[in-house]
Amino acid sequence: MALKDAVLGICPVTIPEKVILISSWHIWEPNVLMIRAFYFVALAFVCCFVMPLRAQIAPAAFTEASFQNLSDQELTTLGRSALNVDAAQWKHAESGNFIYHYRHSTVASPAAVAAEFSWRLVSKELQREPVEKPGKCHVFLFESDLEWEQFSRSQPTDPFSGSIYLEGALFVHEVEGPGKEAGIAHDIAHVVVRRFLGTRVPAWLEEGYAEYVATGCSVAFRRARGATARPHSCSVPDGRFIPLAELASMAGCPKGEAEAGAFCAESERLVRFLNHVDKQRFLLFLGAMSKGSTFDWALKTAYGARYGSAAGLERAFRPYATQEMALPFAN
Ligand SMILES: [Zn+2]
Repeated sequence: MALKDAVLGICPVTIPEKVILISSWHIWEPNVLMIRAFYFVALAFVCCFVMPLRAQIAPAAFTEASFQNLSDQELTTLGRSALNVDAAQWKHAESGNFIYHYRHSTVASPAAVAAEFSWRLVSKELQREPVEKPGKCHVFLFESDLEWEQFSRSQPTDPFSGSIYLEGALFVHEVEGPGKEAGIAHDIAHVVVRRFLGTRVPAWLEEGYAEYVATGCSVAFRRARGATARPHSCSVPDGRFIPLAELASMAGCPKGEAEAGAFCAESERLVRFLNHVDKQRFLLFLGAMSKGSTFDWALKTAYGARYGSAAGLERAFRPYATQEMALPFAN
């Protein structure tokens, strides 16, 4: 009885004598060794592959709370303005890295899972510590087109996702529908870039990086849930290629639809190109740019004499930017 208790810890369940014999003597028999080896391999597989994947897609703790019980009730001016839109209808919740303000939990809860998933992947991708104080990001989820129109009328919106990210808070419109994971991943990539690299990353680089990692995030998210998904990247339209010296100096996305499309496509393609040449060198380049380096200096610091200057990089990059391409399945 004492041995049984020792094997089972505190659980007083009767163990068949055969089991006790196996654990004491038959353990060294070849067939028992094979069985133990099989279970060991199976356990290692579960620990190394199944558990990490399940942990990545496991729903983040989404805990509804009254506004007064949120861990951070300090809102930006735009955040207070958002909560003034039909004020009584807002609900509030928190997950690991975010505080959500929303109308329906059936919409907000899945968005929270995608947001936490994207946060983990992008922050891991950057391979660095955050420069901004660790605090939860406020996320406002609008479901009504009319309310969004009224709220966002005077604010510049993200050229890729249509959301607004201002002073550390995120305002999202299209929470549902096709491509919602990619949109959320793009928005969260902006949040992570600002938290981990600060606010000096040039517009083209932040947009391009957010879209590049969002593509990988949304594909990984959908595959982790059993769906088939393949990454996609838009080419720069004919005649719309922006010289790199000009792209590097642009303060933001241009206004016109065609110009904005070219800016977005070229920014994403350039980040993709630099990553595929050498991911570690790209992270060096990104780090240098986030500290205010010029394009040429950051390029030289990260890639050495490989391209020499923006002009040298442009000669290698231009054909890559303008061609249609099927991305590898693994992105
Ligand atoms: Zn963006």
